[in-house]
Amino acid sequence: MSAEEQKTLAPKRAVNLDGASVAAEIKQEVTAAVTKLWEEYGIKPCLAAVRVGDDPASEVYVRNKVKACAEVGIHSEHHALPGTTSQDELLELIASLNARPDVDGILIQVPLPKAIDEATILEAVDPAKDVDGFHPQNVGRLAMGRPNFVPCTPAGILELLKRRGIEIRGADACVVGRSQIVGRPMAQLLIQNDATVTVCHSRTKDLAAVTSRADILVVAVGRRGMIGAEHIKPGATVIDVGMNRVTDEATARELFGDEAQQRIEIISKRGYTLVGDVNPAAADLVAGQRTPVPGGVGLLTVAMLLANTLKAAKQIRGIQD
Ligand code: NAP
Repeated sequence: MSAEEQKTLAPKRAVNLDGASVAAEIKQEVTAAVTKLWEEYGIKPCLAAVRVGDDPASEVYVRNKVKACAEVGIHSEHHALPGTTSQDELLELIASLNARPDVDGILIQVPLPKAIDEATILEAVDPAKDVDGFHPQNVGRLAMGRPNFVPCTPAGILELLKRRGIEIRGADACVVGRSQIVGRPMAQLLIQNDATVTVCHSRTKDLAAVTSRADILVVAVGRRGMIGAEHIKPGATVIDVGMNRVTDEATARELFGDEAQQRIEIISKRGYTLVGDVNPAAADLVAGQRTPVPGGVGLLTVAMLLANTLKAAKQIRGIQD
């Protein structure tokens, strides 16, 4: 059989939509702008990250964000508070960070312990320092089509789509998940970029019938590998936001196709490997392109946090580009 025939018979694989390279581009741009800010104004942006309790996933996320700040020349502070911290104590810390002129961005890592009301805390952050875009003022601005700080995950996905030339205008887009941090702001951004948008959630009837009409499918649910071939329109762009752990060999074989062996080795070394909300082996037979997990949306989220912190530092001081 000729190589050409073999190519035709081989199962089709979706193109890897590489979040890592776009995240690297954004980080490079932020590094250059941070250097310029220092050289021209003697200013170094500063992010204060606040974490309460000892949730291991949150610990990793905050550590990665702090490390990324150092890579681009942004100063950072990590306030790690015990799980016993009261709401009033946390509000006091936020008030002090709001008042400090040397702090430009404030990040409150969610989820917070159950005894603390998340909405009250997020509303306490100065909207001018709200680099996560969770304050009602920033949520409202986005809904009105006048965004300032946009939540980092959907903002990163928009950058990926734009920088990799994926046509949003006129596209049928479907967002699965309606959370405040991903699904809802993602839908707003897609609407503002002229897509026709459908939002699905746990009560959607016949999910596959809806998602399989989408040219751009964004999935942010938190259920490992739930989106299969039947959910995807042939050739669609699939953005997988989910981050779920796989700890057993059988599931790895089911999800990872050609990559299974490599993933099993990772499980045996580290105890787990990550998978998104999309079944990669099944999706790759239908999708046109797909973001990998890891190496996709997670890296873009961190890159946009850096971009938002830089933006806050400039806006607070009235510095134009
Ligand atoms: P979330 O707040 O738990 O929201 C999940 C959404 O999925 C809800 O709207 C829920 O619907 C919907 N849903 C649940 N089961 C469903 C089903 N069977 N069919 C359709 N929809 C269903 O989650 P999130 O914070 O948006 O996060 C989602 C995932 O993304 C998680 O795995 C999280 O770890 C990951 N994540 C990754 C990043 C990153 O940087 N890569 C950032 C944020 C989140 P209802 O509203 O009806 O309950």
